[in-house]
Amino acid sequence: MKGLAKGLGVTLKSMTKEKITYAYPDVPMAMPDRFRGVQHFDPDKCIVCNQCARVCPTECITLTGKPNPDPEKKGKVIDTYDINFEICILCDLCTEVCPTEAIVMTNNFELATYSRDDLFKNMKWLNENNTNVRSENSKNLTPAAKGGAN
Ligand code: SF4
Ligand code: SF4
Repeated sequence: MKGLAKGLGVTLKSMTKEKITYAYPDVPMAMPDRFRGVQHFDPDKCIVCNQCARVCPTECITLTGKPNPDPEKKGKVIDTYDINFEICILCDLCTEVCPTEAIVMTNNFELATYSRDDLFKNMKWLNENNTNVRSENSKNLTPAAKGGAN
């Protein structure tokens, strides 16, 4: 009897405590800002300097440029930009080194899939991954791209 009362006491005490579990995935998890999630890429900001690909420790970034279609402008524009998330370790180095914030971190992390091929993300996918961009990088985004990492 004493043991039952003791057990019920623990249960009642736990019921009044703040919940430490989440109803994930039914309720999305809010990650802290500066969480290193899957990158957002803005092709309009990329100057094809190649620094992100050079600094990447796992060599998972592949990019190509093409001559600027505007004859008035010098330099290249980005043509293809791919990240292989099979080997990306989300170390943040590519975003740290990018001089134009063309590649920035988001708080998004859900990449689980049944196919390894699906982990190979191209420029279109990375561009559309525009929610929950890290707050320090979200100032220059379009309103639709501001996902509200905080
Ligand atoms: S986060 Fe790190 S591993 Fe992933 S693409 Fe950037 S530099 Fe490479
Ligand atoms: S994403 Fe940034 S670092 Fe990478 S090529 Fe473009 S401008 Fe350079």
